[in-house]
Amino acid sequence: MQKQSEILDLLKKIKENAYVPYSHFKVGAVLITKEGKIYTGCNIENDGIMSICAERVAFVKAISEGEKEFSSIYVLGDKEETTPCGYCRQFMSEFVKPDFKIYVGNQQTGTFKEYTIREMLPFNFELK
Ligand SMILES: [Zn+2]
Repeated sequence: MQKQSEILDLLKKIKENAYVPYSHFKVGAVLITKEGKIYTGCNIENDGIMSICAERVAFVKAISEGEKEFSSIYVLGDKEETTPCGYCRQFMSEFVKPDFKIYVGNQQTGTFKEYTIREMLPFNFELK
């Protein structure tokens, strides 16, 4: 398990890869699997078609590599507290248990607030 200070450094680094010519708002995400493996993501914008958030980039990378179980995700944006958007909350809920942790980083203080997916998305859509 990585220290939060190491994760913060990684978030700052991956956030710099964000492609944000429209919003100029960079976000980084560090997704951690149940086995402790790390997948990173940054937001990637696009002119005219839907952009993709850092959280979904990290999940898509992990899932495409065969990962199925996740324990937590860390998110760091350009403002004090950047929480995952509604689209990402619903997207993540498909692949995680209700106690999946979402750590929201504070760029200024370098601290994280802990939430669960259940707290952030209490009424997720489910077909079944
Ligand atoms: Zn999002």
